[in-house]
Amino acid sequence: MTPQFNFLIGGRAVGDARECFAVINPSTGELLGEVAKASPADVAEAVRVAQQAQPGWAARSDQERAETIRLLAATLRDNAEQLAAWVAREQGKPLGGLGPETVPGARFELSACQAWCEVNASLSVPHEVVFEDQTRRDEVMREPYGVIAAIAPWNWPLMIAIWQIVPALRMGNAVVLKPSEYTSIATLEMVRILAQVLPPGVLNVVTGAGDVGAALVQDPRIGKILFTGSTATGSRIAAIAAQRIVPTTLELGGNDAAVVLPDADPQAIAMGLFWGAFINMGQTCACIKRLYVHDSIHDAVVSELSDLVRAMPVGDPLAEGTVMGPIQNRMQFDKVTRLVRDTVQQGRGRVVCGGEPLPGPGYFFPLTLITGVRDGDAIVDEEQFGPVLPIIRYDKVEEAIASANRLDLGLGASVWGQDPVQTRQVASQLQAGTVWVNQHGAVHPMVPFGGTKRSGWGVEFGVDGLKSVSTQRVISIRK
Ligand code: NDP
Repeated sequence: MTPQFNFLIGGRAVGDARECFAVINPSTGELLGEVAKASPADVAEAVRVAQQAQPGWAARSDQERAETIRLLAATLRDNAEQLAAWVAREQGKPLGGLGPETVPGARFELSACQAWCEVNASLSVPHEVVFEDQTRRDEVMREPYGVIAAIAPWNWPLMIAIWQIVPALRMGNAVVLKPSEYTSIATLEMVRILAQVLPPGVLNVVTGAGDVGAALVQDPRIGKILFTGSTATGSRIAAIAAQRIVPTTLELGGNDAAVVLPDADPQAIAMGLFWGAFINMGQTCACIKRLYVHDSIHDAVVSELSDLVRAMPVGDPLAEGTVMGPIQNRMQFDKVTRLVRDTVQQGRGRVVCGGEPLPGPGYFFPLTLITGVRDGDAIVDEEQFGPVLPIIRYDKVEEAIASANRLDLGLGASVWGQDPVQTRQVASQLQAGTVWVNQHGAVHPMVPFGGTKRSGWGVEFGVDGLKSVSTQRVISIRK
């Protein structure tokens, strides 16, 4: 019998007699389970319960909340293997191997979840005296927003949910989470386990498609919205939030450029470029989606990358030796297939490796390198969000910088080369929330992360991330 997975309100599983939706294994096309769909009344109840639980949680001492977050890390560690298996089955990331050979797969995602918990437990935002003289003293304290709506995507379902949930809880908020309908089972399993160490109602989850997310963000009791996903949906959410002046953090799509300078060593940078582009089959907001390589080393870089691409085993995510899995869902698979086919049919590029979907079942698409493409080609200008890397040859560094900056997105970017002065100088000219030097996508729980332009606004991680899930209260005292 197909298992049914229920959502969680106030620490209780809810979902009997609800309509269900199917969750598919993207490697096989098989049904993994049925997930209960939250009704508008369920969403309203989740917010009510969160609102009721929040003052008690906020009243606990900062240290007590930090201890609880540490318990979440320990709980994730104890359950890492079973949750990683759900991520591999449902999201499609390979487990990632064991020991020194580990690659960034499902086990890596679980380790990142623990690391974010531990770092958030170790940080705090103390009250700050910002001004004092003989006449007055001004202190800034941080207050929770109340109930935070967290909307998470399907690419890193557990890690991104943790990025949203944990800072929010740390600062004394309660949370109602809406995972993607494609990756609801792993998320429900994780929240069920985490909720066991939290007071009831502090962390709730409601499942369903975009309409459930829309009902959640429209609830007038929501104090702040955290959203990670597409620019189109982010824009819709921002419009709803604007009507009630509800603050949002929007972490949206990117189309990150990497600029390889003439003095870069192709062999030395190849592995960094490979993972920068293909981590999670390219389904990562901040990964290299346009690679600009100087003419003098273009062929050598392409050759190094294609050797790596050909050596990486693509297949069953549950097999220990697999390095790359399927594309996560049909919509994404069709988008990638269309972009590559159009490029080839219009004679706009040369496929160096990959290029055609692999025979089914499952949404398997090979790692693909395309050369000979230019700015303006759809495969360069549109965020393909898949295992495809368009490589663009350039002549002058200023041209590459202009190309990198010409789109209206600005999540991440990177520059690769040996001269620290030149790489730093190019980095300072690239328009993105984070510019990496000789690495790409290397996010860290202590380092603020967020987009510019239409890649979103607000930051996550570190002390800035904690501030973003709390509101300031200034206490101004006349002496
Ligand atoms: P969406 O932005 O539609 O999905 C992200 C989350 O928002 C999901 O939980 C989704 O639910 C939910 N959602 C959808 N509509 C609404 C709404 N009106 N109100 C509130 N929540 C809503 O992304 P897609 O899955 O459609 O992916 C499309 C593209 O977005 C990708 O091709 C990629 O370019 C980009 N993307 C970027 C990500 C990032 O990390 N920045 C992550 C994922 C996608 P549900 O999935 O159930 O519909």
